[in-house]
Amino acid sequence: HALSNKIAAGEVVERPASVVKELTENAIDAGSTMIEIHLEEAGLASIRIIDNGHGIEEDDVLIAFQRHATSKIKNEQDLFRIRTLGFRGEALPSIASVSRLELRTSTGEGPGTRVLFEGGELKEHEGYSSRKGTDITVADLFFNTPARLKYMKSIHTELGNITDCVNRLALSNPNISFKLINNEKKLLHTNGNGDIRQVLAAIYGLGIAKSMVPVNGQSLDFKVSGYVSLPEITRASRNYISTMINGRFIKNYALAKSVMEGYHTLLPIGRYPIAMLSIEMDPLLVDVNVHPSKMEVRLSKEAELFQLVDESIKAAFKTREL
Ligand code: ADP
Ligand code: MG
Repeated sequence: HALSNKIAAGEVVERPASVVKELTENAIDAGSTMIEIHLEEAGLASIRIIDNGHGIEEDDVLIAFQRHATSKIKNEQDLFRIRTLGFRGEALPSIASVSRLELRTSTGEGPGTRVLFEGGELKEHEGYSSRKGTDITVADLFFNTPARLKYMKSIHTELGNITDCVNRLALSNPNISFKLINNEKKLLHTNGNGDIRQVLAAIYGLGIAKSMVPVNGQSLDFKVSGYVSLPEITRASRNYISTMINGRFIKNYALAKSVMEGYHTLLPIGRYPIAMLSIEMDPLLVDVNVHPSKMEVRLSKEAELFQLVDESIKAAFKTREL
């Protein structure tokens, strides 16, 4: 049992960013309106996530640490239909098996619970009274899997991965206030007022956010909305093109390329725009790669979507010129 959790951890928990992603998604799924992420040493020393979500019932806490104990969906086909992010019930047991994990949780009614796991073993389990929500600390990640620990990149790289991940979650959840702090330094703070432009400002700065133009378009099968930077505001990396399908961040090379085509010949070679596009479509038109940490998808009717994206961006620049 402990061994299979550790093997699963190899798939689910590749680095600190995967822990942050899984635990933050759990906080989102729990209906939180405020999520704080505190890191020490880019998460290599510790990751603490505090939420104000619905918490876990006393009787369900240990169950949540068993493999495949998801309280969410049963069918992976539903991934794009259902808006909860977790679906495999692997994150908590996997993370607990490769760290020292402390969880305090309360539903706001009756006694709350505190548990401590070390390398997957339950060390402490007690009542704990607190306000409603969950507070989870993952310390000494990979302390018992030295090979994995050796594979970690620099603090700088790990922090970059975490920031990318939290930025995406903040963009797709403008109604939730996110705070990301590393070694006491605040890296992101969104106010949760529902305004995507405010999230863009928190990530890219007010100046860039203000200069981004709204994109809106619709075809038979797709609806596109979001914001794109003006052609003169570019970046040296494709990473700044964020694409969401039905509320979930995805990676699709051809889709990012169709965003760039919307700029026609206006982008200097080797430069990329800043873009945040959200696409709504029938879930049946998306083929999900169900690997828990991957975001690649295959799309049906790609040509129709790419043309819509291209045209919507061109149209967004036109309105600005009028
Ligand atoms: P999954 O998210 O796929 O269901 P996890 O291992 O991530 O699996 O979590 C297991 C279960 O623990 C969840 O289904 C949920 O019921 C509970 N849980 C985990 N984190 C939280 C949280 N922050 N708030 C409330 N419940 C949580
Ligand atoms: Mg989960």
